[in-house]
Amino acid sequence: MKAAVLKAAKQPLQIEGIPKPQATAGQVLLRVRACGVCRTDLHITEGELPPRKDALIPGHQIVGEIVEGATVELPLGARVGVSWVGGVDGDCPYCRRGMENLCDSPTFTGYTVDGGYAEYAVARADFVYPLPPELDDLHAAPLLCAGIIGFRSLRVAGVELGDRVGLFGFGASAHLAIAVLRSWNCEVYVSTRGASHRQLAESLGAKWVGKETDKPPVELDRAVTFAPSGDVVIAALSSLRKGGIVAINAIHLDRMPEFDYDRLLWGERQIRSVANMTRSDARDFLKIAADIRMQPKVTVFTLDQAKEALAAVKNDAIDGAAVIVP
Ligand SMILES: [Zn+2]
Ligand SMILES: [Zn+2]
Repeated sequence: MKAAVLKAAKQPLQIEGIPKPQATAGQVLLRVRACGVCRTDLHITEGELPPRKDALIPGHQIVGEIVEGATVELPLGARVGVSWVGGVDGDCPYCRRGMENLCDSPTFTGYTVDGGYAEYAVARADFVYPLPPELDDLHAAPLLCAGIIGFRSLRVAGVELGDRVGLFGFGASAHLAIAVLRSWNCEVYVSTRGASHRQLAESLGAKWVGKETDKPPVELDRAVTFAPSGDVVIAALSSLRKGGIVAINAIHLDRMPEFDYDRLLWGERQIRSVANMTRSDARDFLKIAADIRMQPKVTVFTLDQAKEALAAVKNDAIDGAAVIVP
């Protein structure tokens, strides 16, 4: 099969002919129909995340159809999605508490095991999500990481119907989260860098739009920050009502600035981080996405153009998400 392979961090992806992977017990073999490009793929290919596997095929937003390993629940030809968490051990203290997103020994698709920048991929059968017909291949792919984790952020922030919610930063994840918030009748306030992101937020129904650390004109019930900046977290925190929550949707922050406890955190305000996802986050989100016919903006690349797709994400050169179609 054809695949885009990362031989070593910081090396360009190489398009190669390699043997088709074999599904072992408990796995399914998928013919890849589409694979979304996530910013985390850049962190992997550029070596910001330490290498975990030699000759890696990246890609963790896979839409594929089952060609081997079919079961009654997952019949031959069924369209399924695969996300960043490709498996958990099931018996660590976190898994046993129902917090599988915090598992001590997780498998990450396209990082610790091969992913979807290829014609075929294997996945654990209990970590694939049947895709409803409302979500076509191209539009389902970007939902599988950016969408699910954006949705988890709303959960971590404790968003309720009709809340006033701030989104700080407006990239791939936020532009999907706003669709969920609008369907929950939330008022959405967006602070973000870049005129094009502000325009996009406005066109997607934001009630108010401002610059990166601008404070919304009302007190927020909940906020989610997407920018890797501690200043943005503080801007979000200073916009909250008493009892409000900021959820930080970023793997890495530049730093956490000093802030005034009495004024900003007192009053049972909370700051929480968002780590990975659970299978129920994925299933619940995909159901909502189908119900509201979520249609992320996508730009299509071929597998031969995998390098160009990564570059486009890196340079913010496209609106919405990049999707590779092998
Ligand atoms: Zn575990
Ligand atoms: Zn991702």
